[in-house]
Amino acid sequence: MALIVRKYGGSSVASLDHIRQVAWAISSARDKGDRIVVVVSAMGGETNRLLKLSEEITPMPAGREQDALLATGEQACSALLAITLESLGHRARSFTGLQLPLVTDNVHTKARIIDLKPDILNQVLDEEITPVVAGFQGVSESGNITTLGRGGSDTTAVALAASLKADCCEIYTDVDGVYTADPNICPRARHIEKISYSEMLELAGLGAKVMHVRSIELAQKYQVPLVVKSSFNGERQTWIVNEEEIMENSIIKGVTLERNVSKISLIRIPDRPGIAYQILEPLADAAINVDMIIQNVSIDGYTDLTFTIPTTDLNKASELVNKVAQKIGALEVKADNNIVKVSAVGIGIKTNPGVAARMFKALSEENINIEMISTSEYRISCVIEEKYGELGVRTVHHAFGLDNTEHTETS
Ligand code: ADP
Ligand code: ASP
Ligand code: MG
Repeated sequence: MALIVRKYGGSSVASLDHIRQVAWAISSARDKGDRIVVVVSAMGGETNRLLKLSEEITPMPAGREQDALLATGEQACSALLAITLESLGHRARSFTGLQLPLVTDNVHTKARIIDLKPDILNQVLDEEITPVVAGFQGVSESGNITTLGRGGSDTTAVALAASLKADCCEIYTDVDGVYTADPNICPRARHIEKISYSEMLELAGLGAKVMHVRSIELAQKYQVPLVVKSSFNGERQTWIVNEEEIMENSIIKGVTLERNVSKISLIRIPDRPGIAYQILEPLADAAINVDMIIQNVSIDGYTDLTFTIPTTDLNKASELVNKVAQKIGALEVKADNNIVKVSAVGIGIKTNPGVAARMFKALSEENINIEMISTSEYRISCVIEEKYGELGVRTVHHAFGLDNTEHTETS
């Protein structure tokens, strides 16, 4: 008898009909003898609806209240699924993050899990009741409701699987696995049967929202067997496994598009020790993740500094940077949210010279200007204008020979 954590994303529970389908799937797994712990996201679109409501009041709501608001989406969905399961004759019980408890740090809207004990869920499972856990949410050490960042229900599921020592964590979503690029923007993307934790971590961190990045970190750390499946079509799936289990390796595994990127430029700042620190320290203190950083060549003791941050942090970051800019006498601060980041990811990058040049050539052939570049062992990222984002992904995907040729034959 296997113990399985099943997570259903927003599109899989978008309506009562969807919730009924999910309930049937769970009851047939239970009838087969498996013990199931369910994790749900909010009903599709609900988190965005709630966010919009608060943004109508103010662009910068207090993190504590934003989390209290957003957590209701998952709470409602978990109760609706538990009610549906009970109506089908299966015993079920919903749980919020506070009830488990799933304890996090105090960083509202992107909290990290500190502790999650399996006791309550084990008790419930022993009574043959199916727990239905509200994903994405926790409770901070100071007793406030927190959320784990957009897409965070995946992380709830993997954390539960690790804590319960489950046999497997299944992520049910609206695609039948991980592809070489988002199939919704790159129709020639190829399905991947097995991908390593490290490559999935890079893809997720660079915008492949099919998995929440933190969930992959946890799955790798606790060696949770993880599989991505479709709620709507059961033929294929993607296993996320250790690198050694992958026989066939390509230089580039996938191409991603990250839309949640903005850049801030400080124009004509003094070029002396400590200035970058003064600018970036307040952002670090506010838990704002600064990604690419570029400093221009100094002229007459002055320089320009540009860096990227998540667009969701742009208002807060602009406020903090403007304060420092005044202090250090910057000529101007410019904020730009009209950009995206296209990245090529693969463990072959470090051993294959010329990969970056191939990507730059492909973008230049489409007349796409590269505004910023960063590279690491596993990836090459280019910041480009937002309107070229999807074209950029398809172009780079094609340039690395990732296009699905079967698609061309059949279409
Ligand atoms: P859920 O609500 O089930 O968590 P998400 O919308 O968060 O679903 O994630 C699934 C979506 O991820 C897909 O619909 C697809 O558009 C997107 N996606 C982005 N990159 C990839 C990729 N490389 N492979 C598969 N899907 C991807
Ligand atoms: N409902 C949250 C979101 O839309 C969390 C999740 O779906 O995983 O981001
Ligand atoms: Mg998701």
